[in-house]
Amino acid sequence: MSLSTFSEIEQEIEKNFQQVVSWRRHLHIHPELSFQESATAAFIKDQLISFGYEHISSQVGGHGVIATLNGSEPGPSIALRADFDALAMQDEKEVDYRSQNPGVTHACGHDGHTAALLGTAKTLLKYKQHLKGKVIFIFQPAEEVPPGGAKAMIEEGVLEGVDYIYGIHLDSSIPVGKVAVGSGYRMAAVDKFAITVKGNGGHGAAPHHTTDPIAVGSELVNALQKIVSRQTNPLDAAVVSIGVFQAGHAFNVIPDKAVLEGTVRSFDPEVRKQIKRSIYRIVEHITAGFEAGYEIEYIDGYPALYNHPVETEQLSSLFNQLFGNENVEEFPVRMGAEDFSYYLKEVPGSFFRVGSKGDDPATHFNHHHPKFDIDERALLIAQKAYIQLIYSNLAIQGGKQ
Ligand code: MN
Repeated sequence: MSLSTFSEIEQEIEKNFQQVVSWRRHLHIHPELSFQESATAAFIKDQLISFGYEHISSQVGGHGVIATLNGSEPGPSIALRADFDALAMQDEKEVDYRSQNPGVTHACGHDGHTAALLGTAKTLLKYKQHLKGKVIFIFQPAEEVPPGGAKAMIEEGVLEGVDYIYGIHLDSSIPVGKVAVGSGYRMAAVDKFAITVKGNGGHGAAPHHTTDPIAVGSELVNALQKIVSRQTNPLDAAVVSIGVFQAGHAFNVIPDKAVLEGTVRSFDPEVRKQIKRSIYRIVEHITAGFEAGYEIEYIDGYPALYNHPVETEQLSSLFNQLFGNENVEEFPVRMGAEDFSYYLKEVPGSFFRVGSKGDDPATHFNHHHPKFDIDERALLIAQKAYIQLIYSNLAIQGGKQ
């Protein structure tokens, strides 16, 4: 691709910006919960048809939508993915694009991911004669709630023939204009467990006639904390948190059972397995020590997100050229999870962050806050990043009219 072509494309992105914003606001006004995004999927499909896409599949792994752009010559296939589900919480913003769906709002920015990918699809279609290879646009439902949408879409074959995959997340902790990239493990694996301690209730004044599940459950809460402090390698980040401890209903009655629920976060797959084994072992032996019974329900959630080093390094140097070194940050490592990790287990690629924090304090709230909002200029940055990465891999050298 000649340089003049890329600056022409940049102008095209700018020209479409208001339309991309209007798509984002439309989605924001009409958010849908994970696994229920039928209107969102229909909206995406309608837009893709209006751009002129001919190869569109819908209902992929649920409400997933895929569009394929074939360049004018054969070459590699690159997939770009946006998620589109909203969260079960009330929108508390005072804006004219506020959610009209009570108790549901786009408080994570997935509306922005989708609008930016639609804009990218629209622009790239116009320049397909400059491309060798394929671009596969993956619009994915249900990122927020395990088992998620990615796994089901992969099972239906979305990655067949795909050589590389990339995706973004907006980030309200990063100023608009900046992106964040990083290789290796960047987001955690997330698992969930529920432990039921089965005791034998009775009078609070006669504990010797009971098996007290609250006393046993308390031992468990303490012992489970020692997995990370005493058993896993201190250099391997991991978390075990108990978020639920429910038992009893009267001050002088020892109940029959206690229920503990918690989450496990980790990066290394071996550490992940080690923690799971430790939880089973500790629960088995502590309950046995007090003659209580137990039941464990353990759900393996999303794997840790691993960005492939070669592809990430390539992104990093591309973005340094496109946005300037000062605007390319290190991807912050956090214990949050993301089902984009499933794609990266299958094909090389990278997930990166796009800053959405503007001057307006309304764009400074954390993700999942009821007032979360973005600086919409982030959608321009996201499209430029996507288009630059497609062109750097698929452009027909020297340009072609
Ligand atoms: Mn998210």
